[in-house]
Amino acid sequence: MFDLMEKAVEKGLLLGATYIDIRIVKNVSEEIKIKNGAVEEATIKTDSGFGVRVLKNGAWGFHSSNKIDKHTLDQVVETAVKIAEASATRSKKPVKLAPVKTIKDKWRTPWIKDPFDVPFKDKLELFLEADETIREQSDYVKAGMVSYEARKIHKWFVSSEGSKIEAEIVFCGVGVSALTAKNGDVQRRSLPTSFGGNYVKRGWEYVESLNLVELAERVGKEATMLLDAKSCPSGRTTLILDSSQLALQIHESCGHPSEADRVLGTEASYAGTSFLTPDKLGKLKYGSEIVNIVMDPSPEKYPEALGSYKYDDEGVPVKRTYIVKEGVFTGYQLSRETAVELGFEESNGAMRADNWNRIPLIRMSLISLEPGDWKSEEIIEDTKDGIYMDTNRSWSIDDKRLNFQFGCELAWKIEKGEKKELLKNPVYQGITPEFWGNCDAIGKDFFIWGIPNCGKGEPQQIMWVSHGASTARFRNVMVFSGR
Ligand SMILES: [Zn+2]
Repeated sequence: MFDLMEKAVEKGLLLGATYIDIRIVKNVSEEIKIKNGAVEEATIKTDSGFGVRVLKNGAWGFHSSNKIDKHTLDQVVETAVKIAEASATRSKKPVKLAPVKTIKDKWRTPWIKDPFDVPFKDKLELFLEADETIREQSDYVKAGMVSYEARKIHKWFVSSEGSKIEAEIVFCGVGVSALTAKNGDVQRRSLPTSFGGNYVKRGWEYVESLNLVELAERVGKEATMLLDAKSCPSGRTTLILDSSQLALQIHESCGHPSEADRVLGTEASYAGTSFLTPDKLGKLKYGSEIVNIVMDPSPEKYPEALGSYKYDDEGVPVKRTYIVKEGVFTGYQLSRETAVELGFEESNGAMRADNWNRIPLIRMSLISLEPGDWKSEEIIEDTKDGIYMDTNRSWSIDDKRLNFQFGCELAWKIEKGEKKELLKNPVYQGITPEFWGNCDAIGKDFFIWGIPNCGKGEPQQIMWVSHGASTARFRNVMVFSGR
């Protein structure tokens, strides 16, 4: 494979490109969705192809094809060079790339049971049993749902700077949820988390480890209990978030705004741009002193995290970077190009494409709130009066990522250090630096959540990312009932 790619790289250089990289990607993906005893979706898709990025006259050109042969590679390289030439006539300043060392390596993620080797019948049996269990929990359960997705990716990267990287990646995940209704009120409960469940870079052994039927029983019971719960009260109070909701809080209010392309205005679709402008770097008080948010996708440390990887799609090795250090905004997620524009010596390896026919963009990898020294139950015991919220239900945040509002599936009223009463329809809102500035306790129950569906770019790319988070407490937060 590498020979074919290296010949095409040579061809690009002969045509006057100053930089060229080629990515070949082969994919298999499977999706299964069950609802109320019926298979709503069961698909297996395979596709493969390659993408070529070139720089000529200081501008980018990109082209791709699903035919992987010498003739097509040469043709696609030629077209990419022509696109770069045309782009150069319109570009304001030439693209410069931060240096990167030459890498020759092969790496893979640590799966044991290849999900694509597990018979469909076995998967279906487990998922149907889970779905049935959800619906058995009460007459109020109107829908039981199970979502499963697995993906296997084999990719090769070659650049004109001599890098040759091969990677094999497997990930999968599953989630169960229950929808209940009574007297016009509708409640939802999902586990291990909402929006399709939790995802990891492991094989089928992860699904087996979850005890899905037990989770199914819990979502059915809890969604039923929520129907009779009181609505969340309104007002300013102390808010405790579970780690899965905090993962989404990190994603929306720190992950997206620290993407350097949003900051530089080259990525503005889908609630783009950012309040973390370069003049604030090293100065802005983003949160309280205990808030440390770090980008660290290194697979040596977190081999199973959905967002971990060894090299990005520019062939850059990942580099641990503090986005927020002791409450101060200190770093961005970078590409080679934005590293130069923002005055950094090198990229930290955040460029990824969701397939061969897409150009890499700056994407979140594994961005985590570092754990604190509280046991999660101590945070509750230490809280006189407040609300504990668990599992995301809805979100909304402005373009600059400053004003936000999140709804959760359930909440508990905290009184004198105890979870006293179940509450439904809880919502909280805030302004990013003020909210993180009021964080006064972080647990040590650190858990890495995997989100398989972060959307960005035009055409849209769906990326898999992770966030590590623990239970955490925030003072003086506005909460109310979503209905
Ligand atoms: Zn996102």
